[in-house]
Amino acid sequence: MIERTLVIIKPDAVKKNIVGEIISRFEKGGLRIAALKRIHLTKEQAKGFYIVHKDKPFYESLTNFMSEGPVVVMVLEGKNAISEVRKIMGATNPSEAEKGTIRRDFGESIERNAVHGSDSSESAAYEIAYFFSFLEIF
Ligand code: UDP
Ligand code: MG
Repeated sequence: MIERTLVIIKPDAVKKNIVGEIISRFEKGGLRIAALKRIHLTKEQAKGFYIVHKDKPFYESLTNFMSEGPVVVMVLEGKNAISEVRKIMGATNPSEAEKGTIRRDFGESIERNAVHGSDSSESAAYEIAYFFSFLEIF
């Protein structure tokens, strides 16, 4: 099924100047960019994005991290985009991620793990609408 998913290149990776390299891995993996922008989230915006994690012990630290510097947010489209993107990203913890995945190659820690990708069609719908209007996605 052709799906859309929301990807964020997190502040750690933007700081390292590896935006192009990360996008290239998704493109080589068969994903197409349907929308893209570079923004600097406020703490409140980061909290809203990660609202599903509001009761987790890492919520405060995660939302501080996500608002510490610019991020690149994009909508990627392709066959089974949600699971394909998560495969290319690798496991949440870079030390447990498979060789050749983005998180294994560029992640610094379980928090500073370079990229975000939606985990389901429900979260993709919420996350895409959080950053992009209908007219910006094509
Ligand atoms: N995270 C963290 N500590 C944890 C688990 C997650 O700091 O123990 C951060 C990490 O940046 C992760 C994000 O919170 O990417 C969202 O967590 P989730 O479990 O949804 O992982 P993901 O879907 O990003 O793989
Ligand atoms: Mg998640």
